[in-house]
Amino acid sequence: MLLRIALRKKTSKFTAISAAITLALAPSALAQEKEKGPAILRDTESEQLLRDYTRPILRVAGLEKQNIQVTIINESVFNAFVADGHRIFVNYGALMQSETPNQIIGVLAHETGHLAGGHLSKLREQVAVAQTQMVIAMLLGAGAIAAGAKGSYGNSGLANAGAAALSAPQEVIRRNLISYQRQQEENADRAGVKFLTATGQSAKGMYDTFKRFSNDNLFAAHGADPYVQSHPMPAERVAALEEIARTSPHWEKKDDPALQLRHDMMRAKISAFMERQDTVYRRYPLSNTSLPARYAHAITTYLHGDLHSALTQIDGLIQVQPNNPYFYELRGQALLEGGRPAEAIAPLRKAVQLSNNAPLIEMLLGQALVASDNKAYADEAIGILRTAVARETEAPLGYLQLAMAYSRKGDLAEADLASAQAAYLRGDNKTARDLASRAKTRFAIGTPGWVKADDIITAKPPPKGN
Ligand SMILES: [Zn+2]
Repeated sequence: MLLRIALRKKTSKFTAISAAITLALAPSALAQEKEKGPAILRDTESEQLLRDYTRPILRVAGLEKQNIQVTIINESVFNAFVADGHRIFVNYGALMQSETPNQIIGVLAHETGHLAGGHLSKLREQVAVAQTQMVIAMLLGAGAIAAGAKGSYGNSGLANAGAAALSAPQEVIRRNLISYQRQQEENADRAGVKFLTATGQSAKGMYDTFKRFSNDNLFAAHGADPYVQSHPMPAERVAALEEIARTSPHWEKKDDPALQLRHDMMRAKISAFMERQDTVYRRYPLSNTSLPARYAHAITTYLHGDLHSALTQIDGLIQVQPNNPYFYELRGQALLEGGRPAEAIAPLRKAVQLSNNAPLIEMLLGQALVASDNKAYADEAIGILRTAVARETEAPLGYLQLAMAYSRKGDLAEADLASAQAAYLRGDNKTARDLASRAKTRFAIGTPGWVKADDIITAKPPPKGN
């Protein structure tokens, strides 16, 4: 679906949710992310596919109970990383650049290797040690010079720190950290291959992807590439990966055609929503009549304003796959955004049903019900939206629509509370507190609504990053 509704800005083609995420692996990315919080892309179809990709890997890694999510970031360059022990982040660019499921699954297996190894916290410990060394080096710099003059360099940490102070301490410490990080990368490669083999999958896609980024590849992206920054790819590492990957009995195994089709559909959708229209038609020329190409054509047609032609194309897609929830979702979204919300209700109901009540699609249905300006729908919208926000706790859209549904009914207390919750999820704490304070005055003291409003007023801002 690519909910484009909440923010009708050109830049937010999927529902963009600002999230404060601190990257920990790449220091330069860290600085960059602090300047502008990355937007996250939400799309049921893509998220479901990524869940299907990661589920077996997480199971063999012993992480199935950790509720680990894969989150898509609104960046066109290739990147994937773990940030807080509970999430794997992947740029939509990495999905676009992975031509097969196996290629991106390999990357996800590698990142799962980082999670399973607890690498992030270990790296942080190592950074803390490095910072301590730095301080000691600075404090003892003069003394260390004296000690060095007496020829007493040893293996003790302090003597090393002194030596570091003599030359460039930051440089020595930085090199130690990099070598530590390389070790982690190799460990994650090995773990990733192990997970792939245990799930009957080839590590060839992982190898192919990493080879593309390796230092001795003339066509490798230049130094600014975030994935190469966070994942140094010396030729030896890629060679070692190839060696272990080739020992797998599944090395030559190809992706299941049905999975490949889902992958191609996801990429077609991302291309159509995120890329320039000329790029979309270059990737998927009109002469290409495959299902993914027709999906891309239908989406880009609706996005560029030809609703009538888009609906005809979507109906053609539905004829091919009458049980594909995302075609009905697209039909509903196109009608909703084309200003025909009442007609969007039926296809969105179908999409909700076929997707087993996917919360993001329920939010879209709730929006269509609210936008239909029919008082009779307000209660139904509230019911659907309440169950959706209970299961999908990070999308402000649900609360925004809930607020509109309540105000339709004249329930201003609940409307203010829902608006406050939406603002809170957007990270706009001041607006959240203001709205919650107003909601609190509208509820009777001690009622559930009053308590929720009070929670928002007294809540600390969500922890940024780690
Ligand atoms: Zn890595």
